[in-house]
Amino acid sequence: MRSLLSCSLATLALLTELTSPVSDKGLLSRHDVREAIVTIRADTAKEHIEVAALVRADGLDYVSGSSGDIDFAWEPGIIAVFHSHPDKGFERPSSVDVRLATGMRIPVYVISVKELWVVRPDGTVEEVKE
Ligand SMILES: [Zn+2]
Repeated sequence: MRSLLSCSLATLALLTELTSPVSDKGLLSRHDVREAIVTIRADTAKEHIEVAALVRADGLDYVSGSSGDIDFAWEPGIIAVFHSHPDKGFERPSSVDVRLATGMRIPVYVISVKELWVVRPDGTVEEVKE
């Protein structure tokens, strides 16, 4: 069983210049984002690996990790991060996820087998109805 803190998006360096917070409004109606949720959920269920999608205004990239670690380079064009929490009982965003959202001022989404949660840039955590 993994611990909550094993979700180490925290390895992300906080090097960017902070701009105004990114809204999650409209994000979930994007076709590529909907597809990413389905893809990440399917990969998670099948391989039990952690997968993330880095969302930009004009597209997204996937990164994957193992042992609960996903490393990626921060770039200012990233407007949201979606990642998986494969393990039952750890569906909610971790404290690391909250720090990522508030630190980078972007919405951070957590995808589990049956749930979708978001941490908004102001630190509020909410389950999203898909
Ligand atoms: Zn997480």
